[in-house]
Amino acid sequence: MSIEQNVKIVSATINPSRVRLIAVTKMQTAATVREAFAAGIRTVGENRVQEAVEKVAQLKDLGLEWHLIGHLQTNKVKTAVTLFSLIHSVDSMHLAAEIDHRARDIDKVQDILIQVNVSKEATKNGVEVSELLALANFVGTLPNLRLCGLMTIAPLAKDPEEVRPVFRETRQLFEKLRAELALGNEFCCLSMGMSLDYPVAVEEGATMIRVGTAIFGARV
Ligand SMILES: *Cc1c(COP(=O)(O)O)cnc(C)c1O
Repeated sequence: MSIEQNVKIVSATINPSRVRLIAVTKMQTAATVREAFAAGIRTVGENRVQEAVEKVAQLKDLGLEWHLIGHLQTNKVKTAVTLFSLIHSVDSMHLAAEIDHRARDIDKVQDILIQVNVSKEATKNGVEVSELLALANFVGTLPNLRLCGLMTIAPLAKDPEEVRPVFRETRQLFEKLRAELALGNEFCCLSMGMSLDYPVAVEEGATMIRVGTAIFGARV
């Protein structure tokens, strides 16, 4: 299957006015990203700052929107704020403070999501559910950060139905946080769902899906 066909298949299962498709381009070449652009992709996700630096430069002419979806180390924050319109992976006060600081240096208000570790087994990254409210409150005190929503990664499952509860709980946390903190319209992004489970994530309220393999094939 071509990238174009794959993008059509994934796009056909979502309502584009409610769900944004983020093509995950980690380990893909700039030429491959161009193919995805030709197939209609306008937002791409990278999981490493260093890998994105080069691609962003090579693909400047496309005007793509770049998202950071992977874990961010503090020593990469300075570069990250220059590259990414949305950082999905904020999971500590320390990291939030550093992003705020580096964003201020370049006069930017950085859009972020808090990554929440709902399933516990999928990844060691993400803030614990019990610490989510405190982190969200802290982010609210930082003038150069804008909290736009939550992100989660579900564990790998043969049957995506197994991870439906993870998506459902994340959606509930999202609603609860919005109500408790009286967050505004900018708090609208729920980033959840990957190649194997995005249809279930969308059913549970995802507004952004991060899809790599189902568009580009298996990474080598
Ligand atoms: C790699 C990656 C994806 C995409 O995974 P696929 O299974 O290839 O769709 C999504 N989100 C994150 C955080 C990733 O690192």
